[in-house]
Amino acid sequence: MGGAANILSSPIEYLKGVGPQRGDLLKKELNIFTFKDLLEHFPYRHLDKTRITLIREINPQMDFVQVSGILLNAEIVGNNRMKRLAATLKDASGELDLVWFQGVNWIQKALIPGQPYLVFGKISFFQGQPQLSHPEIEPITPEKTEHRNFLEPVYPSTEKLKARGLGGRQLAKLTHALFTMLGEKDIPENLPPSLISELKLAPRFQAFVQIHFPSSPAHYEQAVKRLKFEELFIAQLRMGLIKMQRHRFSRGVVFEQVGELFNTFYEQRLPFELTNAQKRVIREIRKDTGSGKQMNRLLQGDVGSGKTIVALLCMLLAADNGFQSCLMAPTEILARQHFQSISALLGALPVNIRLLTGSVKSAERKKILTELKEGSVTFLIGTHAIIEDKVEFKNLGLAVADEQHRFGVAQRAKLWSKAAIPPHVLVMTATPIPRTLAMTAYGDLDLSIIDELPPNRKPILTVHRYDRARHEVMGFIRSEIGKGRQAYIIFPLIDESEKLDYENLMKGYENVKAWFPEPRYYISMVHGKQTNEIRDTNMQRFRDNDTQIMVATTVIEVGVDVPNASVMAIESAEKFGLSQLHQLRGRVGRGAEKSFCILLTGQGLGREARERLNIMTATNDGFKIAEKDLELRGPGEIEGTRQSGALNLKLADIVQDRQLLETAGRLALRILENDPELKLPENEGLKNYLKLTAGKTPWSKIS
Ligand code: ADP
Ligand code: MG
Repeated sequence: MGGAANILSSPIEYLKGVGPQRGDLLKKELNIFTFKDLLEHFPYRHLDKTRITLIREINPQMDFVQVSGILLNAEIVGNNRMKRLAATLKDASGELDLVWFQGVNWIQKALIPGQPYLVFGKISFFQGQPQLSHPEIEPITPEKTEHRNFLEPVYPSTEKLKARGLGGRQLAKLTHALFTMLGEKDIPENLPPSLISELKLAPRFQAFVQIHFPSSPAHYEQAVKRLKFEELFIAQLRMGLIKMQRHRFSRGVVFEQVGELFNTFYEQRLPFELTNAQKRVIREIRKDTGSGKQMNRLLQGDVGSGKTIVALLCMLLAADNGFQSCLMAPTEILARQHFQSISALLGALPVNIRLLTGSVKSAERKKILTELKEGSVTFLIGTHAIIEDKVEFKNLGLAVADEQHRFGVAQRAKLWSKAAIPPHVLVMTATPIPRTLAMTAYGDLDLSIIDELPPNRKPILTVHRYDRARHEVMGFIRSEIGKGRQAYIIFPLIDESEKLDYENLMKGYENVKAWFPEPRYYISMVHGKQTNEIRDTNMQRFRDNDTQIMVATTVIEVGVDVPNASVMAIESAEKFGLSQLHQLRGRVGRGAEKSFCILLTGQGLGREARERLNIMTATNDGFKIAEKDLELRGPGEIEGTRQSGALNLKLADIVQDRQLLETAGRLALRILENDPELKLPENEGLKNYLKLTAGKTPWSKIS
């Protein structure tokens, strides 16, 4: 397919009507370097040329309009910075002002008063009068009117390009010129024939023609579907290949046996029966770590599903095989809590466990670092301080990262460099990412899911109350405390460095104190500005039930586990995102008692805030909430997906096209399972295409 590749890879300036100057602009403004780039510069809308608005009928509800009329005048007015080109267009019903602020000389030269023009642009109102600023304008010629029956593409463009006659509609001329040079062989089919017929997809060449110049809206839909599918399918296929390649070629340490530590712990110290989901995940991890390949696994489990114990069992497995392991948490509070609870769970088992965080004093730190290097520390628990370069292990076999959504790809890579053979990596998250998104955003990780909560958990009852019902809410918290329970009261501190937020928190604290006076009640407070000592003391007092109320910011969000706390009130709940609310709520409902979450807000909520609150009161299911979150905010906002860069999509949208994404993922997997090296004739087009567009696919190792 040499010839095919050649024409599309031609530099854009060689296209008829482009040339060096416009070519440079296209490169700078739109990143269009080659014919192929132009081919993939898709129109954002199509214009029905037969739909022309009468000037008199223009009203403020309209967005874009197309009008046709005689150009009465076009004059440059004002001077210097205020210089603009003002023109008037007249049709049978009235007159309309057109105005340009940039490229005025150039545009004026091209306009001929007295001639008929077709004008398209976004309507705005200036001093009560409708006008079009920087519209697209072109003379109406007899030849043009003949073609009025098709949908004309409008492309994304820029002011600079518009000034050079390459506006949204003029780009169509270039695309048109390009297509006159292209034949089917230049855009060869890349999907297997069986797939095309199974999904009734439009052929590739046709799809490209129709997405630019559709012969009907239905053809356009078909073309878009085909090209979106292709995009999603190829992206996931590529990811699958990378993953397979990693599985086949990356050597990992082997945890051969289940030994003394694991067994003793399991039989004598495990305080509960594992859920089936926990058992299944441990089996998956054992299989990975025994295979001789390096594990890269993402463990997703809703808040309270019991991920910590899974991590601990895996760490014991590593220890049984003579390897060190580490557990990383995103916050100091959580690191300390893990250290405490794991130490308590281990009891007298002979495991040397250490805590390393930013606040460990230097003498102690030195000692830990030495012991780590010598190998006498078995478990290292800490914050991300653990992966600093100074920290050296003797033989790190397993690294667990709790709350992965704050743990990036680069950090994982850092871990791999900590041992001759890269350690197994288990990342855990309680921010459930919808499955489809996980497949794409974390495509290089294998996925385990704990989809079951420990038994006897009572669902958390969530309600929404307005501030004016505060009296009633505080009364309820009092009655729960009266029964021996504890409560969280959460304040929004979006950015902990903001002085204003801090003052709000302090005011809030004083209010809480007024509702819950000493000596009946004692209050802990935890926020990001405290020293570690003070924060620890406050946490510990709450954990010991010396304080009944915890006033906190979102530092409490991740992982904190105090089962006796059964009420949470969230102040200004409308200011929190969905996944954050769900995380926060996960701090209650951890014991055997019925738990409550009260979302407090002011009046006058926006539509989205209202929707978030409705979802929170309707469900406890983290996966459902994550799906909804994705819908409301879009994928770019979901943590962890931004840095992934795994999917660089031009057409498809992983929220709107979720269904197609899933289908494409399923089919990509099917092909990889049947024909992992794409050797079948049926998959030849696919293989050629992947080679042609190879960036990251390590083909040398596959074929
Ligand atoms: P998360 O998945 O949110 O990190 P944790 O690991 O903190 O959850 O576990 C939440 C609570 O559930 C802890 O108190 C833990 O001891 C308890 N737990 C975990 N697994 C089980 C189980 N199988 N049966 C009963 N309780 C469990
Ligand atoms: Mg946890």
